[in-house]
Amino acid sequence: MSTRRKFLQLSALASAGTLLASCLPQKSGFQISKNPRKPVVLSTWRFGLEANAEAWKILGNNGKALDAVEQGVRIVEDNPEERSVGYGGRPDRDGKVTLDACIMDENANIGAVASLENIKNPISVARAVMEKTPHVMLVGDGALQFALEQGFQSMNLLTPESEKEWREWLKTSTYSPVANIENHDTIGMIALDVHGNLSGACTTSGMAFKMHGRVGDSPIIGAGLFVDNEIGAATATGHGEEVIRTCGSYLVVEMMRQGRSPQEACEEAVKRIHHFIRKGGRNEKEIQIGFIALNKNGETGAFCLQKGFNYAVHDDKNNVLIDAKSLL
Ligand code: ASP
Repeated sequence: MSTRRKFLQLSALASAGTLLASCLPQKSGFQISKNPRKPVVLSTWRFGLEANAEAWKILGNNGKALDAVEQGVRIVEDNPEERSVGYGGRPDRDGKVTLDACIMDENANIGAVASLENIKNPISVARAVMEKTPHVMLVGDGALQFALEQGFQSMNLLTPESEKEWREWLKTSTYSPVANIENHDTIGMIALDVHGNLSGACTTSGMAFKMHGRVGDSPIIGAGLFVDNEIGAATATGHGEEVIRTCGSYLVVEMMRQGRSPQEACEEAVKRIHHFIRKGGRNEKEIQIGFIALNKNGETGAFCLQKGFNYAVHDDKNNVLIDAKSLL
């Protein structure tokens, strides 16, 4: 081979290497500890306590974070008393219960469903989308068709209690979600397992009495949930439109990559959202957003726009509910 050809080949290889290196996510700022706190799991709202306890059955037995987050949030999906997630979730304005969910594992595999009807565990359908299809998201009838093909049982998700509330709402049909009152709340759960791997799950029936077909942040990877196994994970609750606008959970994880603690990263993201709310002329008093975050070292954080958001953290010592600090 001529020296010139060899030189060209070598420099092509070198620049491909440089290109590859520059495409890889940079860890600038983030320091991995030699002694991470693990396992640890955290999830949004009061129902996070029971969800964490379920997840711990897996995490505490050296199980995988992915299995833990799926099984953890299923407990809330199954519970008809929880009226913002899964079975018994409040319907849309047409009286239909439509569910949104997504899941992400340590290898950046993702799966999601949106506007799924008649299946009480959308998180498991999302996992099946991730593991059994070449796609990452299925919606509406297509998601239902896939779920049935996979053996999920069809059932009526509208409980008498939720139907009663909807009929009451129909009398005025005014849609004005108010921060922290019982018309919306998502369970987002993120976990670090004993093997040092992160995964997350997020599931909701979305805003009560939403327009039929409305999809919030919860099934959207990067908005309602994001996991980067080199850095950390984040998930969101609250007004999905605001979280989508800022790619909220992705933003939190990228802040952690730059060296912010999980707490600082959540604060930055809420401030960014607040800025956009003001820019868009929306009323900040009527909007709630909450983020929780976990880094690869097992450190946690949370922050919200209005007072009233809480989250549950389970480590090898206990499972506690914590009031998140707020911007306003
Ligand atoms: N984020 C959910 C949605 O916008 C609702 C919530 O968490 O309260 O659908």
